[in-house]
Amino acid sequence: MKLMEGKRGLIFGLANEMSIAWGIAKELKAQGAELGFTYLNEALERRVRPLAESLGADLIVPCDVASDEDIERTFDAARERWGELDFVVHSVAFANREDLKIPFSQTSRDGFKLALDISAYSLVAVARRAIPLMKEGGSIVSMTYLGSQRVIPNYNVMGVAKAALEASVRYLAAELGEQNIRVNAVSAGPIKTLAASGIANFREKLKLMDERSPMRRCISQEEVGKSVLYLLSDLASGVTGEIHYVDGGYNIQGA
Ligand code: NAD
Repeated sequence: MKLMEGKRGLIFGLANEMSIAWGIAKELKAQGAELGFTYLNEALERRVRPLAESLGADLIVPCDVASDEDIERTFDAARERWGELDFVVHSVAFANREDLKIPFSQTSRDGFKLALDISAYSLVAVARRAIPLMKEGGSIVSMTYLGSQRVIPNYNVMGVAKAALEASVRYLAAELGEQNIRVNAVSAGPIKTLAASGIANFREKLKLMDERSPMRRCISQEEVGKSVLYLLSDLASGVTGEIHYVDGGYNIQGA
């Protein structure tokens, strides 16, 4: 019996084969999960659709998480297709590129709102629509980064957004625990992806992983995928509200 046999869920945040969402999707599929995917826009659909179809998905819908109507439509499609839902992967973040370069004090009101809306509030918006479909309980996992807890050069407003995201994970977990809906986040070490390319001097972060992390190497999308698999599966049936680090131990160090 595979870990995710009989479980159905939606993955938000696949952009291409470099995406962390792709590493997660492959691990879930290998363990028997049935997957649905969302994509942000038509340009990304061309990349996402063939990847999703290669994992046997036929629920592939556009969804801008800034739009409540889009999110509504996405969960309507899942309800029509499956009736119920077992899990959701939230692997979405966005901030203006300039805001990841300038001194933090120069962050604009609009830039702050945008980063917090797409990268943190969207988890709440998605969970809200998932709850009625998780009749037998379920599991929700989001993606975060150490910049929520410590100052990481250039991470700026995204660090604030990730702090809000992690607090949202805890509040959702506390509220939904009784319904057997678990909510956790994985805090991944730096990985070269489309989103990461927006962070100034990102290569420096990869180099630090090789030189200073306890494991002296970067981690892969697949390694993140395996930890997300654990949190979504019944192996983690007693785990909720956690921020689980997959960073080769980088976060434990003081210097
Ligand atoms: P990615 O670019 O592959 O994924 C980001 C996704 O967010 C894309 O699919 C993009 O389409 C989506 N997105 C952006 N704005 C959206 C919107 N308005 N509506 C819907 N989708 C939207 O990059 P990734 O690194 O795989 O990022 C996935 C998650 O992992 C993000 O939350 C990111 O912060 C987090 N993370 C990344 C790293 C890293 O080093 N790459 C480390 C820790 C955490």
